Amino acid sequence: MSTHVKLYIPGPVEVSPATFAAMSQPMMGHRGKGFQDLYAEIQPMLQTLFGTKQQVFLSTSSAWGVMEGSIRNLVKKKVLNCCNGAFSDKWLDVSKRCGKQAEAYQVEWGQPILPEEIDKRLATGEFDAVTFIHNETSTGVLSPLTEIAALKKKYPDVMFITDSVSGFTTLPVNFDELGIDVLLTGSQKAFALPPGLALFTASEAAMARAATIEDRGYYFDFIEFKANGEKSMTPSTPCISLIYGLRHQLKAMFAEGLENRYARHARLNGMVHEWVRKNGFEFFAPEGYRSKSLTCVANNREIDVAAFIGLLKKNHSLIIDGGYGKLKGKTFRISNMGDETDETIGAVIAALDDSLAKL
Ligand SMILES: *Cc1c(COP(=O)(O)O)cnc(C)c1O
Repeated sequence: MSTHVKLYIPGPVEVSPATFAAMSQPMMGHRGKGFQDLYAEIQPMLQTLFGTKQQVFLSTSSAWGVMEGSIRNLVKKKVLNCCNGAFSDKWLDVSKRCGKQAEAYQVEWGQPILPEEIDKRLATGEFDAVTFIHNETSTGVLSPLTEIAALKKKYPDVMFITDSVSGFTTLPVNFDELGIDVLLTGSQKAFALPPGLALFTASEAAMARAATIEDRGYYFDFIEFKANGEKSMTPSTPCISLIYGLRHQLKAMFAEGLENRYARHARLNGMVHEWVRKNGFEFFAPEGYRSKSLTCVANNREIDVAAFIGLLKKNHSLIIDGGYGKLKGKTFRISNMGDETDETIGAVIAALDDSLAKL
């Protein structure tokens, strides 16, 4: 077997042997009691985690499935896509490919999405939906979700669609309190599961909107998710193994305690930040808008990022990310998502020190 190279890229992240073991359960039919019991067992944990009384749905797809699904289910008039990095920029393209009227609120990569800018655009009355990425993984920017969600009160007919794929479970996100319409996430980021499962919840208003929209398709039809969810089932055959893994991870989260989990991520993120400062690097994201899930380091020292990652891999059997798309070599990213501990992030930092010294 080849050496295990540990992943400190911002997704997929490391999956623990215990999680893999939990996934190795015999298969079962997805229309029988066994599956319904599994679904019903995890549902209350998911609702607590999402801070919602609504159902939490399981989609056998990566997050993009539900991102596209949200557009297809909720946009009638025109969608405002808030764009500040690779994932959020792509959402504009996806909206157009779904045949919807779409407009970008574009900011420079590395900058946050600001509520006053959204407000200005929604005030035109042109839009009936807005997409927004809580934690832009490509740039390490955390935008102010609470302040943006507060606009929902002013624009109740606009669907607020939020991707917290890489933010969710590293910090609290309370769906009902925020009052937004869709919150979606994926398995291979902070949940520390293999890829292939997306999770989402939707408001009553979102379900009511979906019911009025034609051409929702089938696979990501919110109404299908709701009807099946009421029977503790999914519209099509789900990734049962991943759902066993999800149950394991949810139990671990509640055993740790959600507050402790959020504090752990803040602390581990702080350890990486300290390394950045100590070594004369800068952050790509401005102060006050920095992700708690990962650190996007600006390569102001102009090190050879590819060589740096090569050393980490060769000598320490771990990898970090060398910059997303146009940021390749200009930044590098270190994830602290998932099951990481003071000890494992401590080891990453020692490896970073060692590799930087050898460049
Ligand atoms: C990873 C990620 C996605 C895309 O997830 P897929 O699993 O590739 O569909 C979307 N948004 C954000 C913010 C992400 O980090």
